[in-house]
Amino acid sequence: MSLAERAKRERDLAVAAEVVDRCRRCAIGSTRRSSVYGEGDACAALMVVGEGPGETEDKLGRPFVGRAGELLDRMLAAIDLPRGDVFICNTVKCRPTIDTGTRLANRAPTPDEMRNCRPYLDEQIEIIRPRVILALGAPAAKSFLGERFSITKQRGQWFEGPLGIPLLASFHPAYILRQTGGAMTEVKRMVWADLKQVRDRVTAPPPAAPADAAPEQHSLFD
Ligand code: SF4
Repeated sequence: MSLAERAKRERDLAVAAEVVDRCRRCAIGSTRRSSVYGEGDACAALMVVGEGPGETEDKLGRPFVGRAGELLDRMLAAIDLPRGDVFICNTVKCRPTIDTGTRLANRAPTPDEMRNCRPYLDEQIEIIRPRVILALGAPAAKSFLGERFSITKQRGQWFEGPLGIPLLASFHPAYILRQTGGAMTEVKRMVWADLKQVRDRVTAPPPAAPADAAPEQHSLFD
């Protein structure tokens, strides 16, 4: 990747982020504190797409921060793709909220909000052209693969994403954190299997694995 191409992509992303920041296409565009465009390497081989910003993301204007974000960072580090080397974003760029009467709580984005915001996500994919898209959580996966997609049955399988880019869905880090005991161990095992597939697609695999290679541990992101 030439320096000129990198600079162009960074410029294009910065311009697009400014457009998103002015966007009020949905009502949540007026209730958010910050737009959360996404962040990371403009030339990333891996794009991670989550559902939408939560309270902390809205406050900081950054995707995947807080406990779920920290777990995502550990997951990415476990496959030798540190956060700074990937591009991280969401299906919607504003925090979807519901007024409980006493506070604004997080909620899932509506189909209309996802549809409204989709051009921004498509533009990000077009600019970055990642080699792999990792959709985290059912809403993100469904936004690419349709309402009938089942995260429990179809995670860990490869699909053709936008622009023909290989796309795999796995559990959202927030879902992992909600598990306890054996369920958490099992979910982590599945996510680790998914991550290894992602790593193998993103990086050029060695011709043959060394016979004495140390066994890989999903506990790397414990
Ligand atoms: S969610 Fe997307 S489309 Fe809707 S107001 Fe925010 S930036 Fe605009």
